[in-house]
Amino acid sequence: MKKTVRDIDVSGKKVLVRCDFNVPMQDGKITDDRRITAALPTIEYLIEQNAKVILMSHMGRPKGEPKPEFSLQPVADRLSELLKQDVVFAKSPVVVDDSVKAAAEALAPGQVMLLENVRYRAEETKNQEPFTGQLASLGDVFVNDAFGTAHRAHCSTAGIASYLPSVSGFLIEKEVKFLGDALEDPARPFIAIMGGAKVGDKIPVMENLIGKVDALMIGGGMSYTFFKAMGFEIGTSILDEESLDLARDIMKKAEDAGVEFLLPVDTVCAKEFNNDSPQIVCDRDKIPADMMGMDIGPKTVELYTKKLAEAKTIVWNGPAGVFEMPNFAAGTKAIAQALADGDAVTVIGGGDSAAAVEQFGLADKMTHISTGGGASLEFLEGKELPGIACLEDK
Ligand code: ADP
Ligand code: MG
Repeated sequence: MKKTVRDIDVSGKKVLVRCDFNVPMQDGKITDDRRITAALPTIEYLIEQNAKVILMSHMGRPKGEPKPEFSLQPVADRLSELLKQDVVFAKSPVVVDDSVKAAAEALAPGQVMLLENVRYRAEETKNQEPFTGQLASLGDVFVNDAFGTAHRAHCSTAGIASYLPSVSGFLIEKEVKFLGDALEDPARPFIAIMGGAKVGDKIPVMENLIGKVDALMIGGGMSYTFFKAMGFEIGTSILDEESLDLARDIMKKAEDAGVEFLLPVDTVCAKEFNNDSPQIVCDRDKIPADMMGMDIGPKTVELYTKKLAEAKTIVWNGPAGVFEMPNFAAGTKAIAQALADGDAVTVIGGGDSAAAVEQFGLADKMTHISTGGGASLEFLEGKELPGIACLEDK
């Protein structure tokens, strides 16, 4: 267990908090501020505790140079509104300089300051000096609350922890709790649903899960690589040619481990990768040579939803079909609905899976939706995330 802000005394201290304020922007305006609101509990707690709060984040990919379109100024403005207090924006093209230091020194307990985009500095993504030391010089304590970048060892996510006492904020605490508990201490049966486009991306996750789950349920584009590996015609379906052997391997590993390995039994096909392309439903071994699989079929939906109703823990990573196209979203929607209707602990990892659940309006029916696409995948792979590993143990 990692220490959190609750485990240390922050009163009167300068607390450097790494947040994920990488919000979507259009024409200089924030189009979705959920990442900012998600960070409020940690920030508000620190304010209540009379800490001097110094926030840092990246936004977009300015590639190590100050670029005005990636400035965090709009985030500072929005934060001021949300916190109902003035947030000092430390506007510096080099993120840390003498005036920023002076501003940090001048903070009163309960005051909040936001640094400029840490990726204005080329060292940031390389975890290099002198930037790490410069950041650390601003504060007394480091709090990491940016789960979305926790799988990256950058100056502001991990390097800084070698200078300062380091703990997690509430967001990372929550991610570690739900993802960690699901993997280490799941109520059973424990089912993992794996989908998405490519098998190759998800093989490490499946390998890690095989030691933990009771059943692996496959959907989405990766199904067709498995079908091909089983010797079926898959038409023009998405195929991850390089992963055919790995697919066979995984099926064998699941069998050896006594893990039930479920593949779709039927599929929705179309001639073109296009929402308006006419569709047919066929059994998995009857995919026409000139068609591609776009979604799981109704028999599969029935089989899967029955099975999911019995589960006590479900981890879902990767949509069951091309859910971005409404005509091919039924399978993914049915799975989301099954998770919403059941009483299992439901954990959603993966950016597109989370987007699907949001799109169907079922987000608040899930136990936990991970906020970090890449980070949650690496967590499910069983990897140690540098931005979490660097924090102090309880
Ligand atoms: P996540 O972000 O949840 O980890 P992935 O990125 O692995 O998920 O996969 C999501 C993508 O997989 C979606 O864009 C979806 O359209 C695509 N996909 C799902 N099923 C198919 C399919 N049958 N053919 C092609 N792409 C598919
Ligand atoms: Mg994705």
